[in-house]
Amino acid sequence: MSEYKFIVAGAGFSGAVIAERIANELNEKVLIYEKREHLGGNAYDFVNKDGIIIHKYGPHIFHTFSKKVWDYISSFTEWFEYKHRVLAKVEGKLISLPFDFKGIETLLTDKSEKIKDTLIKTYGKNKKIPIYELLNSEKEILKEFGEFVFEKIFLNYSKKQWGVNPLSLSKEVLKRVPVFIGHRDYYFDDPYYGIPNNGFTNLFQKMLNHKNIKILLKKDFKDDFKIKDNKVLFKGKKFEGIIVYTGEIDYLFDRKFGKLPYRSLKFEFEDYDLKEFQPVAVVNYPGKERFTRITEYKHFLNQKVKKTTISKEYPGEYTPQKKNFNIPYYPILNKENKKIFEKYLKEANKIKNLFLVGRLAEYRYYNMDNAILRALEIFEEIKQLY
Ligand SMILES: Cc1cc2nc3c(=O)[nH]c(=O)nc-3n(C[C@H](O)[C@H](O)[C@H](O)COP(=O)(O)OP(=O)(O)OC[C@H]3O[C@@H](n4cnc5c(N)ncnc54)[C@H](O)[C@@H]3O)c2cc1C
Repeated sequence: MSEYKFIVAGAGFSGAVIAERIANELNEKVLIYEKREHLGGNAYDFVNKDGIIIHKYGPHIFHTFSKKVWDYISSFTEWFEYKHRVLAKVEGKLISLPFDFKGIETLLTDKSEKIKDTLIKTYGKNKKIPIYELLNSEKEILKEFGEFVFEKIFLNYSKKQWGVNPLSLSKEVLKRVPVFIGHRDYYFDDPYYGIPNNGFTNLFQKMLNHKNIKILLKKDFKDDFKIKDNKVLFKGKKFEGIIVYTGEIDYLFDRKFGKLPYRSLKFEFEDYDLKEFQPVAVVNYPGKERFTRITEYKHFLNQKVKKTTISKEYPGEYTPQKKNFNIPYYPILNKENKKIFEKYLKEANKIKNLFLVGRLAEYRYYNMDNAILRALEIFEEIKQLY
């Protein structure tokens, strides 16, 4: 039996929150296995040679409606009040996302007044309307407008991002990028937002720097633990303690019901001897380019350095054995994959001391705040068993 009663697999937000709670609230020792060489999961960042904080796995902006999550996470960091604005390059022009009245005025000059009027009369001002609603509108002008936005903003972007036509995806995905009835130049509505002023990795270090927490980096949980006959085995013997697993659920069960597919990403970083490459942190490219967006990192903390670093983001199919696209980023949430997931979940539920938490173990998309909230909820369940 391991000397630890609590084992956590993965040091992203899901694992880190639970480990922190066990160490602080329960005052128990906890051992974290993290197969990467660093903490933070996909929110990991580092300082590059020019002093710029880079998000290695893509741009991460913290935002939440939950005061509970905000208060909890703010005990480990101060915040830089970064308000996220996203632009898209369409027909050589920069427009704001969500697509708003400025976009209509820039790209649909002749009909812009009529479209804006009809949108306001139909839906009211300052509303967000999902694209599928416009596509199904009985008013010809709105339907045409919906088709225009769909083609210019969603079609290629989604084909690149998901490798399929967006119409074959669930409504949840189409809901994520709506049209806004009015002018606005910010992306999220959440009342609490920001970037940790010393970066995300620093936040993780503060969370996990505790006498009760030991972290094994570059160590896969499955090197020491196995699932067999509905039991967790530690080095071949039954483990009676509590396991919190935040990795891929299919991998935990040796992919016995099949592989759960994901989309992956490749980031190509480029350094420039420029003060600024683009006016905002993130510009989307919904056109024919192979990449989906360019991120310029110095904007997140308004870093005043002479040089700049950007990344171009290329989506692709997740293939664990390959050099590129070997990180599972976005679960592909269709019926077939959900069925496979349910089979794994059923197996997992037979093991009372196993808790699955996070985007990989639960095969769903979580923003950081949802991952934190979920981890806090699961911690309450663990307390009941403790
Ligand atoms: C490109 C991109 C941009 C995003 N931007 C935002 C954003 O702006 N705002 C926002 O709120 N959210 C954003 N997210 C979502 C955010 O990344 C997730 O909410 C967060 O990563 C969830 O944390 P997690 O701990 O569940 O998963 P992860 O961060 O993936 O952490 C899981 C950890 O477990 C480790 N692990 C897996 N299997 C094992 C194993 N067998 N043994 C040991 N360790 C293992 C992994 O190496 C990893 O470090 C974004 C996601 C992506 C992909």
